Amino acid sequence: MAGMLYLVPTPIGNLGDISIRCRQTLESADFIAAEDTRVTLKLLNHLGIKKSLVSYYEHNKAFKGNVILDRILAGETCALVSDAGSPAISDPGEELVKLCAENGITVCAIPGPCAVITALSISGQTTGRFCFEGFLSTAKKSRREHLEALIGETRTMVFYEAPHKLLNTLEDMAAVFGNDRPISLCRELTKLHEEVVRTTLGEAVTKYTENPPKGEFVLVVAGAPAQEKVSFTADDAAKRVAQLMAEGISRKDAVKQTAKELDLPKNVVYDAALTVE
Ligand code: SAM
Repeated sequence: MAGMLYLVPTPIGNLGDISIRCRQTLESADFIAAEDTRVTLKLLNHLGIKKSLVSYYEHNKAFKGNVILDRILAGETCALVSDAGSPAISDPGEELVKLCAENGITVCAIPGPCAVITALSISGQTTGRFCFEGFLSTAKKSRREHLEALIGETRTMVFYEAPHKLLNTLEDMAAVFGNDRPISLCRELTKLHEEVVRTTLGEAVTKYTENPPKGEFVLVVAGAPAQEKVSFTADDAAKRVAQLMAEGISRKDAVKQTAKELDLPKNVVYDAALTVE
């Protein structure tokens, strides 16, 4: 019988955040697949767990994924961890989950530390609807294209960013979304120097130009203000139909065009058009 794949989240800074269930899963798995075995070894030593480790990271995942799959198919249970946080979220793991799912392997995700959720909840921004945008490209052109595609996005947007790229990213965001757009910069979450700076894009550019950023960041950017929808009335429809008919357009076509232009139901416009001589 095939084994299973467990996704085991690990602390994003505070070792106390490892849960009892994560610990038990690491203890009971046949082997652990880790992004960086040295990082995971430190955690295992802290927890007093001895376990066989297999490296699984960005540049060996195509080959190692199949090795791990074969072991699971042969009946072993694998616990997948990344360096920090939830595996498969902007981390190697996404491909392994796909591979296991495609091969009928049960995948079990244990809930736990995740930088995007920790940042969103502490951000002070609207949390009801959000989109996670992961890392932006390091290349200026594709970074700008990614941001430009988000111009009309009204949901709160969450980005991961490395400190050495932060200023460029903030400058691009300010150019695309405007200086006044609110942003919460969530830094070093769950660590000694945890900090949340709630400000605007323009002010963030000034702040980090003067004080180069350090540590790990999640950026939580407010969505674009929702466009106020203009609602038209039957009177507006009657006026527009009259105008179009005066231009020589038939009543039928004027109704059709007005309904489209004013985003009103055709029967409402048709009734309104009956008042037009
Ligand atoms: N899978 C992990 C998760 O979802 O928690 C994220 C892994 S991703 C490779 C690493 C990025 O997560 C960092 O560049 C940073 O943007 C964010 N991050 C991780 N730990 C953080 C922390 N303690 N404080 C702020 N951001 C953090």
